[in-house]
Amino acid sequence: MKKWFYAMIILLLLGWGIHTFQQSEELDEVLPPEESELRLPELSHNTLTINRSEIHKGDLLLINTQYPVPNHAEIQDVVNLFEQNHLVDGFGISDNSVELPLDMLKRFTAMIESARAEGVNHFLINSGYRDLEKQAELYEQLGSKQANPPGYSEHNLGLSMDIGSSLGLMKDAPEGKWLENNAWKHGFILRYPEDKTNITGVMYEPWHFRYVGLPHSAIMQEHDFVLEEYLEYLREQGTVYAEVEGKEYKVSYYPIQAERSIKVPIEGSYTVSGNNTDGVIVTTWGGDPVSVGMEDR
Ligand SMILES: [Zn+2]
Repeated sequence: MKKWFYAMIILLLLGWGIHTFQQSEELDEVLPPEESELRLPELSHNTLTINRSEIHKGDLLLINTQYPVPNHAEIQDVVNLFEQNHLVDGFGISDNSVELPLDMLKRFTAMIESARAEGVNHFLINSGYRDLEKQAELYEQLGSKQANPPGYSEHNLGLSMDIGSSLGLMKDAPEGKWLENNAWKHGFILRYPEDKTNITGVMYEPWHFRYVGLPHSAIMQEHDFVLEEYLEYLREQGTVYAEVEGKEYKVSYYPIQAERSIKVPIEGSYTVSGNNTDGVIVTTWGGDPVSVGMEDR
């Protein structure tokens, strides 16, 4: 029974092969040589059309006192963790107002699972997504030294979390140390390190982690960059390559003045993120590492 089945498949495939072969031979006979070449286009890339609105979307948006959270930023599936407490698994929450987009919760949960495997398991979430109203309240309570005005906090973008430890202050707790050394493997960065306050303009916050995704967090860790420095580096370099856990990535920056087209390889994957200032970053992986990415800068 099985043998027959495979024999049928082989016959079918052979028949199809012969058929298409004959077809292409026929075409060659009919068409002059140049035209038959035109019939075999090199389908190595797709063309993306990028317009200025893309500058303000994505995981790499720079948010600081100069560049606010874009109007109408799409923040999806925000859940209140106190109300949806079945989602609180392996960590604690500081109060009933903690909210997170679901994909951020998944990223955080995966990250602390790795920490737990290394015996670090006293994580808390003190704050996640904050809407503008909540940010305004906080700003009023804490003042401009400890909080940003509404629209100028990464928390309003939904990609940042204030993570704590039930064992003590993050700067001393094992949870803080573990995150400082390992968060990058999960796409997170310590957004406001102690030695970069002159660049970030924000005091040392050992609890504030921002999601940027791989390979960006790995490149930033390797070069000891904060987001401001990383985006500037990409602007200067144009294209950088990174290998993370066996995956080869190509990261390219494109200034966007008007609508433009950018080529990405047809094989493999890509992401596009704006930088919230003047361009987009296209990240490609999984295709042919040599031809990955594009001309048309
Ligand atoms: Zn924060």
